[in-house]
Amino acid sequence: PASLPRPSEPRIFVVANQKGGVGKTTTTVNIAMALALGGLNVLVIDIDPQGNASTALGVDHQAGTKGTYEVLTEQIGIIEHAQTSPHSPNLHVLPAAIDLAMAELELVNERGREMRMRDAIRTYIQESGVDYIFFDCPPSLGLLTLNALVAATEILVPIQTEYYALEGVSHLMRTINRVKGNLNDDLRLSTILLTMYDPRTNLSRDVADEVRRHFPHETLDVEIPRSVKIAEAPSFGQTVMTYQPKNVGAVAYQEAAEEIAKRAERVDA
Ligand code: ADP
Ligand code: MG
Repeated sequence: PASLPRPSEPRIFVVANQKGGVGKTTTTVNIAMALALGGLNVLVIDIDPQGNASTALGVDHQAGTKGTYEVLTEQIGIIEHAQTSPHSPNLHVLPAAIDLAMAELELVNERGREMRMRDAIRTYIQESGVDYIFFDCPPSLGLLTLNALVAATEILVPIQTEYYALEGVSHLMRTINRVKGNLNDDLRLSTILLTMYDPRTNLSRDVADEVRRHFPHETLDVEIPRSVKIAEAPSFGQTVMTYQPKNVGAVAYQEAAEEIAKRAERVDA
């Protein structure tokens, strides 16, 4: 693939939507892989205890593997524990093992518990020359997602083109504004990506139109279509970008990554 423009400073995205199954993980791993294959240095931080991003990116994350949990609770360094993807030397992954589910409880009484990830990221940026960092979040707005929101500068919201697509988004916007006011003034909802789009249905088209009306600047031009190959790829420890690079879903994610890389750094909120 053609090389992509390098941002003037690292861009830190949190991929968030408190609805499950809308394509957060799929979007994280495919855009991260597309940027890495385009020559950029990318870190994916799996902050969902389910570890789906770790699986799709083909890195170890069985119980006991050091990763996001230890960064949050023991403050170990990211650079020492991120694993390199077997499919791109530019793509690094901080894995999530199942013990990450305990982190929320364990941190409840710790000082500065919302800042742990931000501090770790700042060190990593100085040590690594990273261009893009992506957080793959669980489908909730608890302490794990909060750590990502405090560490990030941009939010990418995948929206599944179906009924009630926008319902969770107003709740997410309220959370973003609260985090922005109290903990992270740099945070912006910069990017919306329409996922599981089916151009043959009125519903998909109507939802896409509605999202574009509400978020004309944030919504990417490309929509991600439904594709079985996208859903199959993780069972091979891959993203569709390497599993079936000519598939319509891979082409769409490639375009989405190019749009993100070519956009102005941020859309002002
Ligand atoms: P989330 O992380 O928001 O819970 P996922 O990315 O895991 O969502 O996606 C939910 C399910 O939908 C997964 O099984 C995934 O493989 C599948 N999926 C995601 N995007 C697509 C798509 N464009 N076409 C077909 N299946 C998809
Ligand atoms: Mg997920």
